[in-house]
Amino acid sequence: MNELIKVGERTYYISGPFHVGVYDLGTKSETDLKQVCLIDSGVDSTVARVIDKRMIEAGFCVKMIINTHYHADHTGGNDYFKKKYDCPIYSTKMNAALISNYDICPAIVWGAKPIDEIMNNYFYATPTEVWDIDDITLPDGMELVELNGHSLSQIGVRTSDDVLFLGDAVVSKETIDKHPLTYIYDPKVHFETLNRLKGIKAKLYIPYHAEPVKKIKSLCDYNIKCMEDNIALIKEICSEPRHLDEIISMFYNRRGLKLSLYKYAVEGGIIRTYLTYLYNKGELTVANEDNFIKWKNAQ
Ligand SMILES: [Zn+2]
Repeated sequence: MNELIKVGERTYYISGPFHVGVYDLGTKSETDLKQVCLIDSGVDSTVARVIDKRMIEAGFCVKMIINTHYHADHTGGNDYFKKKYDCPIYSTKMNAALISNYDICPAIVWGAKPIDEIMNNYFYATPTEVWDIDDITLPDGMELVELNGHSLSQIGVRTSDDVLFLGDAVVSKETIDKHPLTYIYDPKVHFETLNRLKGIKAKLYIPYHAEPVKKIKSLCDYNIKCMEDNIALIKEICSEPRHLDEIISMFYNRRGLKLSLYKYAVEGGIIRTYLTYLYNKGELTVANEDNFIKWKNAQ
């Protein structure tokens, strides 16, 4: 757990629940330490401190960070590393704006000033100044891959060792089996990304929350199947007009899951994401019944 694992001449990752990437930039600091780029930074300063311990043991110092997307479990360590190394942090323009102004992010989940329940390390990170990655020349041998859909403007990072860090483009089969409502911002785009990812070649793929794999197709297919199953269940529920809370309740009951206010905030939003997708495709219609907005399959 939280060990530094070497997977290429210049590429490493941290094992454990957060697969932070570590790329040897091939340059040295004034104190003769090898300078590295981190790909994401862990969930909080406690995890960042453990990662930093591994950096010190390996004779590394953090020269820069790339965030794959704004989610707090990928950016929560930024503040620690920024304070210790004064390293610049980069992401896409959209994510840079969000991470730099983190109060916006939990509001995206809740759609208003957020309830206290979601103001935790997974939905709120200390804001850190992040710069648009398009404005810099990437380190030697590094390449970005668009992986939109899980969140706004997500990127993957390929290193010179042909290792592809995937952010949250895919989650593990175990996670899907336990939590079928995995976070997705835009199912239409996420379907496209997963299908495209199946054709993107790399020597090793490292998802942030799943074990590294040499072949990505079956994991992509499992993630696609999960989305298709969620959509099929929602459409079945909407064979009669249903309002949102009814859909959430029926979805949870059918999957044998238990709702809480926290899950209502987070996963209720994911149900809304699927409803949006189906509505925008013309597969659901809405009607006002006694001032309940009800969703029903289009005929
Ligand atoms: Zn994420």
